[in-house]
Amino acid sequence: MVAVQPDLARIRGVLLDMDGVVYVGDRPLPGVQELLDYLDATGRGWLFVTNNASQRPEQFAEKLAGMGIRACPDRILTSAMATAQWLAAHHPERGPVFMVGMEGLRWALEQAGFALVDDPFQARFVVCGIDFQVCYPRLADATLALRHGARFIGTNGDRSYPTERGIIPGTGSLLALLQAAAGVEPTVIGKPNPGMYEQALQALGTDPGSALMVGDRYETDILGAARLGMATAAVLTGITDRETFERSRPRPDWILPDLPALLAAFQAADRASR
Ligand SMILES: [Mg+2]
Repeated sequence: MVAVQPDLARIRGVLLDMDGVVYVGDRPLPGVQELLDYLDATGRGWLFVTNNASQRPEQFAEKLAGMGIRACPDRILTSAMATAQWLAAHHPERGPVFMVGMEGLRWALEQAGFALVDDPFQARFVVCGIDFQVCYPRLADATLALRHGARFIGTNGDRSYPTERGIIPGTGSLLALLQAAAGVEPTVIGKPNPGMYEQALQALGTDPGSALMVGDRYETDILGAARLGMATAAVLTGITDRETFERSRPRPDWILPDLPALLAAFQAADRASR
């Protein structure tokens, strides 16, 4: 079977991963604002989508502003927000939540109208995101809540978290601990799961067939989007090298060195379609 490359000229909405696409740690990557300006000028929607549930969208917007990138907080969808919105849509009665997580998740759950409780036996839901300060009593209480019948939700499944010092446990590792302790499997919302993309597409008012996902990680960004029928562009500014993307199936529709190359591809496709 010969894969047919989708036409960038038909893309109406663009989802961009952040770490490894827009910046690496605190270092901005080239061409971000130029790409966003072009998407705006051609009437395309765009949204940043990140599995990082630790911070509020305002905090990400501030970080971007410090790098000269203009993005209102409503252009940023975190897995914490996607999780809170998913939970509100599926459980409109909004039962009490026992949270393992940080400010970004607390904010998102409270925004969505959920009451946070510390008593494990009151909780209808255990929602777990990254918590760099997590302690044993918190995990013990989360386990008690789950064993008492609370529904288990995870913001994202990333087992590892890259830092300057090396790889440390990510949310997926906390979920694995709770799963081992409580014997129940979490429902996970962040990339590559459909929940996150569905929220993003809804926010953009775009169907999967006219949306493009731009990411640096195959197993989250690219795979999840491809499964939903979105076009995918892999960039080499992050964690994955060209050989890995070339070998992967389904292969990303585009494998590009960076965002300036994506901008050039958009411009070429738009010129060819005129
Ligand atoms: Mg990334």
